[in-house]
Amino acid sequence: MITASPKPIKEIIGLVEPYQKILILGCGTCVKTCFAGGEDEVAVLASALRLGFKKKAGSIQIEEMTIERQCENEFIQEAAAGVARNDAVLSLACGAGVQALAKRFVKDVVLPGVNTTFIGIQERPGIFTEECSGCGNCGLAVFGAICPVTRCAKKLLNGPCGGSQKGVCEVNPDTPCAWHLIIERLTALGRLDSLRTYIPPKNWNTSLSGGPRKLIREDHIL
Ligand code: SF4
Ligand code: SF4
Repeated sequence: MITASPKPIKEIIGLVEPYQKILILGCGTCVKTCFAGGEDEVAVLASALRLGFKKKAGSIQIEEMTIERQCENEFIQEAAAGVARNDAVLSLACGAGVQALAKRFVKDVVLPGVNTTFIGIQERPGIFTEECSGCGNCGLAVFGAICPVTRCAKKLLNGPCGGSQKGVCEVNPDTPCAWHLIIERLTALGRLDSLRTYIPPKNWNTSLSGGPRKLIREDHIL
């Protein structure tokens, strides 16, 4: 999932202050799962803003809505009437959702209500960890399904660096050494031999360093 965290309420108040009518638009997929932008968070934020503006003697009308996904036109369409009724949309989706709304509603103000963080998983309730950097050329088959591009502080493809202590990364002692985990897992699978082959430097053209990327699935183009 794409993870995100709510922006501080002071920042949000500053963003919506110039507008009279605001649509707080939640997204029912990734940001809902990480407790940043689903219908519950929309309701909590709406109450906080109503309270905040009441105290400041300002007037603001807030509408609440959550759609299944803000990154797909099929679902975005459901928000069209709500967007038209308001002066601005405060989107609680990830950065992709915010930009998808802006592409669909070209004349409307779309504001981000969360800080998008990373592609990750919920490791245990309330704890989310980054697992993939979206490099565009996945090598997990070689690494025993543990990503050194994302989880090794030095992004080593031919690790370990030799600095880990008791399985902990020398760069960040709060983090397990990704290469320790890779070797443990490949050993358990009886596949440690897969690391005998030198892995050449990655072609970073497929990563974000090559500029914004496109995923084209010709078999799904209508
Ligand atoms: S190798 Fe690339 S695509 Fe695969 S998990 Fe790591 S960052 Fe993601
Ligand atoms: S200690 Fe492990 S995770 Fe940390 S930089 Fe070295 S190889 Fe990478």
